[in-house]
Amino acid sequence: MKINLIKGDITKFKVDAIVNAANSSLLGGSGVDGAIHRAGGPAILEACQHIRNKQGSCKVGEVVISTAGNLPAKKVIHTVGPVYQIGKNNEKEKELLANCYQNSMLLAKENGLTSIAFPNISTGIYRFPKQVAAEIAIITVQNNPILEEVNFVCFDEENHTIYKKLLSNE
Ligand code: ADP
Repeated sequence: MKINLIKGDITKFKVDAIVNAANSSLLGGSGVDGAIHRAGGPAILEACQHIRNKQGSCKVGEVVISTAGNLPAKKVIHTVGPVYQIGKNNEKEKELLANCYQNSMLLAKENGLTSIAFPNISTGIYRFPKQVAAEIAIITVQNNPILEEVNFVCFDEENHTIYKKLLSNE
């Protein structure tokens, strides 16, 4: 399994599946979710509405797959990250964040996909500390070599610096 680190916009990324840090409604939101729906066009929202009609909302740590619409990627995997609880130990939230990464890779594999790109799930409005979230993301991917290629796409400088350091300490 190859692990790559990229700084940039995940919507521009040509890979089998890009992962969306969605919310449980699956109907779009701000941050990377908004960027993916904007760049991918209405086909993604339509697909998500269809999924919602069938199964209801998506639970934290779980995943669904949709078309990628106009994006260069083949598919979008939507996962719902946990909201970090300030002042609590967040053991459950850490586990749920790991589930997001693991379940995304498993769903990609089930769909015959071999490469995936992850944003830094839960480190935006869901306010997970970036260092903690990066450690969970990297360990979960390394311990689960399910796909051939995993790309971590960092949009902000702080995440990129954290990932660079963690991945070069191998
Ligand atoms: P969450 O609700 O899971 O915290 P956000 O979208 O608010 O989701 O933030 C998750 C991460 O996505 C943040 O680190 C943010 O910098 C990053 N991000 C925002 N836009 C993009 C984009 N176009 N491509 C990749 N990452 C993005």
